Amino acid sequence: MRRPGPLAQMTMALVTMTLSIVLLADLFLGILPDRAAQLRESRGKVSKSLAVQAAVLLQSNETTVLENTLREVVRRIEDVRSVGVRRAEGSLVAEAGGHAQHWKPLTDGRSVSDEVVVPLHSQGVRWGAVEIAFRPDDRSLFRQWLDAPMVRLLLFLTLAGSIAFAMYMRRALQHLDPASAIPDRVQRAFDVMAEGVAVLDARARVMLTNKAFRALQPEGEPVRIGQTLSSVRWLVDGVPGDVAAHPWMRAMAERQNTSGDSLQVTLDRGASATGERSAEATAYRQLVVNCAPIIDNGARVRGCLVTFDDVTALHKANTARHQAMDEIWKSREEIHRKNEELQRLATRDPLTGTLNRRAFMEAVQPLFAAASRGESSIGFLLLDIDHFKGVNDSYGHAIGDRVIQEVARKMQQSARGADLVCRYGGEEFCMVVAGIDRRGLAAFAERLRRRVETESGPSVREIEGLRVTVSIGIEIFAGGMGSVESLIDHADQALYRAKRAGRNRVVSFIPGSAELTEQLS
Ligand code: GH3
Ligand code: MG
Ligand code: MG
Repeated sequence: MRRPGPLAQMTMALVTMTLSIVLLADLFLGILPDRAAQLRESRGKVSKSLAVQAAVLLQSNETTVLENTLREVVRRIEDVRSVGVRRAEGSLVAEAGGHAQHWKPLTDGRSVSDEVVVPLHSQGVRWGAVEIAFRPDDRSLFRQWLDAPMVRLLLFLTLAGSIAFAMYMRRALQHLDPASAIPDRVQRAFDVMAEGVAVLDARARVMLTNKAFRALQPEGEPVRIGQTLSSVRWLVDGVPGDVAAHPWMRAMAERQNTSGDSLQVTLDRGASATGERSAEATAYRQLVVNCAPIIDNGARVRGCLVTFDDVTALHKANTARHQAMDEIWKSREEIHRKNEELQRLATRDPLTGTLNRRAFMEAVQPLFAAASRGESSIGFLLLDIDHFKGVNDSYGHAIGDRVIQEVARKMQQSARGADLVCRYGGEEFCMVVAGIDRRGLAAFAERLRRRVETESGPSVREIEGLRVTVSIGIEIFAGGMGSVESLIDHADQALYRAKRAGRNRVVSFIPGSAELTEQLS
């Protein structure tokens, strides 16, 4: 059987003491009346006065009056059942209440409690007796015991005392410091622990805290014993959700341990209240909360053991590591961007964004190699802006640059997939067109020339009516036709001829025309 709780034990002790005091008071002071004695006394009085009346009436021989008197006595006094006046030799002189039937002659002639015999004497000789039969107590023994004033008083005190004392003790215990009930050695054992510990009762009120827990609390905000843990503001401000979601409430409701809930406690609570809270500036403690419900033999939840691990150092180190990782990622991205930028600067012409000569020579090699193996043919064209010196001279260098940019743009717009555009010299460009034959190349170059003629001049909006034209020399390269250098040379010769022929035109290299070129120059 389960031992009664401390409240029940104390209540029982108080009730027992009260009962003892009442019993002692009755023993020494006789505070309660003795019903049996009272009854005996009253019956004695009735019997005596009846005997006196009977003697007087018998002397004056008034038997009728005597009979009436006896009847009246039986009628009026409820306790009296029957009365009879009997001569010494045994005959009844008068009777009432069916005395003849009720009366059982007493063996020894003495009165018992329910039957009283008062002897009548005449001139010193026993004449007879008045016999009075009182009503016997026909209540059951238990009923008689229950009706006893002492028993009633004790029963009442037990009942009322239990309720009153229990209510009072309950309140009194709450006002007393519950912590004082915890033995020193228990407190010391908890104090040794490195983690903060709070022991809660079934209503989540703090019953005990250890040193490490008290070290966690911000100055001026101590946790009072008896206060519910969920009302500790500095602690629960960091816990999301309502009270039922607090780890210790969950642990008790679900009767299961909870572990690993993290909780951040702000130490500089003044700063956070004003809202100027920055992650670095605010002092905080990072805690990990573990809860274990305390369940008794009867499977009732009696409280909860809550531990708080201070993992601030670890948390700070982790945060710093994450920040460092972020920085590294950022700088890696920066380096990547810078590299791309450098790559662009190293391979591209800054004015037009087309490939510079070195990058072009590098890029053309695989195309050229593929063409050499006869896998595909490539077209090559060399382009020079006509009378460009005149543009510079008439409109200045800046406009000259704009013209160069516009021509480059037209070339880039014409290029597809694997095609390459390169600024070959001041206002000279070259281009490789992949997978094209001689006729296709001629048509391509002509389209380009016409686009420059019609669009590039107007694109330079600063100068109205500016005329920009180009001369283009083209050559095709297919399997086994020699080097890149000879290809460029052929295109150059064709370009030269285009200039000679009056500019703003496309000229294809004609094999064996080198001598002709020489002559023309
Ligand atoms: P032609 O039709 O025979 O080609 O006549 P041209 O005037 O274009 O003659 P040439 O090709 O010899 O002239 C090139 C000029 O282009 C020389 C130089 O001053 C100018 N030039 C070269 N590079 C740049 C540049 O980056 N910007 C500008 N504005 N001018 C440049
Ligand atoms: Mg030139
Ligand atoms: Mg020129």
